[in-house]
Amino acid sequence: MTLSTSSSPINSITGHVFDERARNALFNQVKSQQGKLTATDIDQLCKKFSLTQEQLLRACLPVASLFAVAPISQFSVGAIVVGLDKDQHAHFYFGANVEFAHQPLSLVVHAEQSAINNAWLNGAKAIVQIAISDAPCGYCRQFMNELADADTFDILLPKQQFKLAELLPAAFGPKDLGNQYSLFNPAPECTQLVASLDVCSLLVDQAQHAYVPYTGNFSAVKITTFKHGSFYGRYAENAAYSPSLAPLQSAISQLHLAGLRMDNASIERVELVQTEGAENQLQVTQAVLASYANLPALETYSLRFK
Ligand SMILES: [Zn+2]
Repeated sequence: MTLSTSSSPINSITGHVFDERARNALFNQVKSQQGKLTATDIDQLCKKFSLTQEQLLRACLPVASLFAVAPISQFSVGAIVVGLDKDQHAHFYFGANVEFAHQPLSLVVHAEQSAINNAWLNGAKAIVQIAISDAPCGYCRQFMNELADADTFDILLPKQQFKLAELLPAAFGPKDLGNQYSLFNPAPECTQLVASLDVCSLLVDQAQHAYVPYTGNFSAVKITTFKHGSFYGRYAENAAYSPSLAPLQSAISQLHLAGLRMDNASIERVELVQTEGAENQLQVTQAVLASYANLPALETYSLRFK
């Protein structure tokens, strides 16, 4: 991996630090690590290229954009969440937009959702920065307003930096619906569910960690590939309802961040678990799956409270 011109000043505003070869090498590294750069990776890359962490973060945005799958818009967006683990180590969680051919536009995953979902599924405890290759749309500003750290994290755009309150004044959020919890600060009682059939315990565990304060549908999806293991997604709701992230989209986004695709006959199983009496994901899951060819039939299972 090499800098484009080692003697040139680094353009920390636009982040155009890496040449194509370096960008592709970093893309392959992030893919092999399923959409993540660890604190150790970040340290090594900063030293190798003489960058600060923030310069590296901005420089990685064009790499995040490479994960986009945008058959409708052809508009690639990259986002990276800087998230802290339980030991306060900062990791980069990549994200990119996901679009579904021949399906309603409301089903798409935005890059910011993808990166936040990636951090959430990988156990990040707090968010300190969200870098985005383009200005966040209103939908994403609302999605970010559901986060526990919405008042504190920085939003880095190519030429600007904001707090969420500046981008979303007079906001409507969880507290307006009487919800004292938030994404990354969930209600403690979400681990009381059991499956009625013999369902993968890891999938049940993912459903138990869904963030569903508005419908109570603890739900999750598992996508099993023939050669590259399994990918999980959880339901993440939003006080404005529409920017909620469905469990299948959550799982597909993770699959993409590993450099895989749904439409190449590499998928062995797709399983959906939902909470009995609160089911609301079947139709949306079937609609998204219908945008791909060669998929196995969706398997659905119920969870109930102990
Ligand atoms: Zn958006």
